[in-house]
Amino acid sequence: MSLIERFGEHIERGREPSESGRDPSESGREPSESGHEPSSPSTTAPNTAAPLVVVDAIAKTFDVSPPWLNRILEGKPRLLLHAVDDVSFEIARGETLALVGESGCGKSTIARMLVGLYKPSRGQVRFDGVDLSELGSPAGRQMRSRLQMIFQDPYASLNPRWKVADIIAEPIRVHRTMSGKDAIAARIEALLKQVGLSGADAAKYPHQFSGGQRQRLSIARALASRPEFLVCDEPTSALDVSVQAQVLNLMRDIQRADGLTYLFISHNLAVVNHVADRVGVMYLGRIVELAPKRRLFEMPQHPYTRMLLDAIPVIDGSGQMRTAVSGEVPNPLNPPSGCTFHPRCPLARERCRSERPLLRQSADGSQVACHAIEENWS
Ligand code: SF4
Repeated sequence: MSLIERFGEHIERGREPSESGRDPSESGREPSESGHEPSSPSTTAPNTAAPLVVVDAIAKTFDVSPPWLNRILEGKPRLLLHAVDDVSFEIARGETLALVGESGCGKSTIARMLVGLYKPSRGQVRFDGVDLSELGSPAGRQMRSRLQMIFQDPYASLNPRWKVADIIAEPIRVHRTMSGKDAIAARIEALLKQVGLSGADAAKYPHQFSGGQRQRLSIARALASRPEFLVCDEPTSALDVSVQAQVLNLMRDIQRADGLTYLFISHNLAVVNHVADRVGVMYLGRIVELAPKRRLFEMPQHPYTRMLLDAIPVIDGSGQMRTAVSGEVPNPLNPPSGCTFHPRCPLARERCRSERPLLRQSADGSQVACHAIEENWS
């Protein structure tokens, strides 16, 4: 049994009445109190209407050079880190697009560009037809409430000095989506119940909650301004696997109830397999394969995607990888020429060392960037 199958069992077990939306350490709440009844695994087809999010050839370069004086005295060159390079994709309304890849592949940088935390060095992100670089304008400020982010670390992302009520009310007050003390208090209570917590939790501080509960608080805060688009950056990677399943179930139920669109960032293919409609695989700042989830897991095309899938541990008690991911991720400050994956690729040929493969679309709508696929090397 692979880890993906095993994780699927956790997901389904997370829906059993004995394991409500709360952490195992909690007690006394039935699933119906979460405001969302458990539902069956997703069969939702991606919406074919105009995409909510359009990412057009974005790039992000960071200047990581030593200070100017050091460079002059020590004769060191400027150092530019190309964290994201020429990435394009669309996300349909109600869809979950997952980006996966090893640490440092640029997926979190993309997440931050999609909510306006980073400005692209090149290219454009459009949300519902509006360029996100205009977030500073009056129209852009209104748009900010429609997109929110859930961060990886529920311990660091909640202000420890604030009560839960103030934490959840902050986006409501900042975006002025609601007014009146009583109305805001009622909204906070409803949000807490929606994420499987109690209205009485509003008076507590973050340190009084477990890790899973804190991530529920992060979700409640993200939902407070009634967003349409949530960027979720490794939202469950800091949690135990059983708590991960509960939080993922909650996010999926909320997506169905509120019609949300997700960009889901993860390094964990088992998690991605249970949340995504489509999956983009990233390597050194670029998407190398983008395909519907089922197609990607059943017929991976790119050698790197195959390598990642082959490395999923087999749960047979030994904890052994099937085939470990070979090689090291190259230094992004000095990436290999041509296809940046060529030093690790078992299919690499001369063309791979000199020519960067372009992301090409195939008949089934999936996209892959590989000379071997393009030329049908065996
Ligand atoms: Fe491997 Fe060449 Fe394809 Fe890159 S382009 S993944 S090196 S076969």
